[in-house]
Amino acid sequence: MKATNEVTSGKYDNGGKLKLAIQKSGRLNDDSMKLLKECGIDISNGVNKLKADANNFPLEVFFLRDDDIPQYVEDGVADIGFVGENVVYEKKKKVVEVEKLGFGKCRLSIAVGRNETYTDAQFLQGKKIATSYPVIVQDFLDKNVIKADIHEISGSVEIAPGIGLAEAICDLVSSGSTLFMNGLKEVEVILKSEATLIKNNNLGAAQQQLLDKLIFRIQSVKKAKNNKYVLLNAPNDNLDKIIALLPGMKSPTVLPLATAGWSSVHTVIKESDFWDIIEQLKELGAEGILVVPIEKMII
Ligand code: ATP
Ligand code: ZN
Repeated sequence: MKATNEVTSGKYDNGGKLKLAIQKSGRLNDDSMKLLKECGIDISNGVNKLKADANNFPLEVFFLRDDDIPQYVEDGVADIGFVGENVVYEKKKKVVEVEKLGFGKCRLSIAVGRNETYTDAQFLQGKKIATSYPVIVQDFLDKNVIKADIHEISGSVEIAPGIGLAEAICDLVSSGSTLFMNGLKEVEVILKSEATLIKNNNLGAAQQQLLDKLIFRIQSVKKAKNNKYVLLNAPNDNLDKIIALLPGMKSPTVLPLATAGWSSVHTVIKESDFWDIIEQLKELGAEGILVVPIEKMII
């Protein structure tokens, strides 16, 4: 059974292609495909296909249920996968988490009936908790030295208290509106999660080289998303103060405007920082402020 061993060890030579597992359909599918596109990778995606090849990168994409992705990566059937950290921690497979992907953000939280008084995790002592994440919940209970009865269900966890199945639930939350509609309140965040890139433990050298290329592209896309190109007109009298507010990649570009006494300042800053300094820029007389998205950023 040599061939099988090669497959399961992750060293199987797949014509030099990197095999990536992503979610077939659901919350992570669109963003996974979008990220590949932003990395300049074209997938000829036949709907409902099990796998597809990239046209311009040695990559083969497998479309799977998200719950199965860690197992496929551990077995080496896929070299790498895009999957929620929540699934990685729940499945406890032997895979390596390589790079967070910046999408699929959510939290895994404990929720109880809106009218319950919850002060701390001791509330859960001896209670029934419905969840699709028994492993993560058990870890949480152990850490807090709590004994509770975990009731594993695979979907619609939020209705469990309403039908008398459990006194608490542990489920993924993003806005909280589903909890609210079911008369529940979020009382404890036990995990913050986002989509992440996982890889097989024994990735071959050729595969690792391809992965390094892919990671380089992913990092460039992520950096670009967090940063904006900012252009503004500054009165020369306040130029130094304005520049001091604007840390650029190296330093801002300053060009004289046709109007005497004014300069145009260009720089790259974190979007979050921008909102912090916008008022100060205006107070210093900055005008015509443009904030422009960046497509790729290589530093
Ligand atoms: P599959 O059919 O692949 O098993 P699923 O129903 O288990 O899909 P989805 O609901 O599509 O999974 O969610 C996939 C992942 O998206 C979750 O595991 C989580 O990492 C992430 N996610 C982000 N926000 C949320 C949210 N509000 N609720 C649930 N999952 C979310
Ligand atoms: Zn799933």
